[in-house]
Amino acid sequence: MKCPYCNFDDTRVIDSRQTDEGHAIRRRRVCDSCGKRFTTYEKAELMINMVVKKDGRREAFDRNKVIGGIIRACEKRPVPMAEIEKMGERIERKINSLGKNEVSSDYVGELVMDELRTVDQVAYIRFASVYRQFADVEKFAEEIDKIRMSNKTKTQEESGPDVLRIAIDGPSGAGKSTVAKAVAEKLGIDYIDTGAMYRAVGFKMLREGVGAEDTGRVERMLNDTEIDFRSGRIFLDGEDISAGIRTQEISEAASECAQIGIVREKLVQIQRDIGHRKSVVMDGRDIGTNVFPDAQFKFFLTATPEERARRRFEQLGGKEQDLSYDEVLQDVRERDYRDTHRELNPLSMAEDAIEIDSTDINEEETINEIYSRITAEH
Ligand code: C5P
Repeated sequence: MKCPYCNFDDTRVIDSRQTDEGHAIRRRRVCDSCGKRFTTYEKAELMINMVVKKDGRREAFDRNKVIGGIIRACEKRPVPMAEIEKMGERIERKINSLGKNEVSSDYVGELVMDELRTVDQVAYIRFASVYRQFADVEKFAEEIDKIRMSNKTKTQEESGPDVLRIAIDGPSGAGKSTVAKAVAEKLGIDYIDTGAMYRAVGFKMLREGVGAEDTGRVERMLNDTEIDFRSGRIFLDGEDISAGIRTQEISEAASECAQIGIVREKLVQIQRDIGHRKSVVMDGRDIGTNVFPDAQFKFFLTATPEERARRRFEQLGGKEQDLSYDEVLQDVRERDYRDTHRELNPLSMAEDAIEIDSTDINEEETINEIYSRITAEH
C-alpha cells in the first residue's frame, strides 16, 4: 500500500488486531521512506446499501453520517464517543443483515431511535423531534409520556410486585419525618429520611472543608462515602451522626449540597437501591416526582410557612436561642424558595399525589389520615 504522506510505493504493517466488534482488522503501518505511521481498516465488502430518502433520491449508506446525527443528538449528554461508534456499528450491521440493497431513510431513523432510547432518553427526544418533525409541544409531551410509561413498567418489573413504596414529600417543617416514621412503624416497614442523607453529605463537606464549587473534590469525597440507616439512626462512614445533623449550620450545608448534580445522583441512586430491595416509607422533596415516580402511594404534606415556623421555633426550644420567631420564619421562606427554585429536582407535588394540609390538624390526625388511605387500598 502506498504511503498517504509521501506516496512511497511500499509500507510495512507493524501491528494488526481486530476491532472491538470483530468485524474489521485494524492495521498500523509505517512508511520506510518518510517514517510516518498511519492506520488502515480492512473489512468484508458487503452489498452496497442504498438509502432511499423521503423525496425519492438515493444515496449510498454512510455510517459516518449516521454517527454525525447521533453526535448532534448527544451534545452535552454523558454519552462517550466509544458508545456512539458502537451504535453506528450496530446500525450498519442490522442494515447489512437485511440482505437488501435498498433501505428507506425512515428505517435508518427508526434504528437510530431504538439505539438512543436505551442509551440516553434526552438525546432520543432530541433526535425524534427533528426526525419525526414534531410540530408542537403536544408532540413532545406525548413522546415524553411514552418514555415515562416504559420507565415505570421497567422499575415495577425489576423490583417485583411485593415491594411497597410510600412517598411523602413536602416543604421543610411540614412534619414529614415524624409522620413518615409513625406510618412506617404502624405498617411494620422501614422509614428512610432522605433529608438526613443530604444533611450527612453537607456535614462531611463542612468537616472536610470541601467547597460546593470544587466538584472534583466533591466527587472524590462521595466515592469514599458510605451512608447507612440502622434502627432509625443515620451512619456516615460507620459513625452515628444522628444527633449532630439537626443544627442550623447543617441545614444550610444540606440545602447547598442538595443543589449539586453529582450529590443528587449518588443519593438518589442509594435511595432507589433501598426502595427496590424492601418496602419503605421515604420522605423528602422529590420522592414522588423523581426517586419513585412509580410509588404506590404518594402524599404531599404542607402547612403554611407561619405554622411551620412556629413548630420549628418550639422545636428548637432554646437550643439556638439567638434565633427569634421572625428569623425562623425568614429561614423557612428562604428554604422554600431554594427548594422550589432549584434547577435539579425541585420540590413540586406529583400529579398523582394526595395533598394533606396539616396547618389545622395535629400530628396524630395526619398520621391516621395517611395510614387509613394506605390500608383502605392495600
Ligand atoms: O428535610 P430536611 O430539612 O432534613 O432536608 C435537608 C435538605 O436536603 C433540605 O435543604 C432539602 O432541600 C434537601 N433535600 C432534597 N431532597 C430530598 C430531601 C431533602 O433536596 N429528597
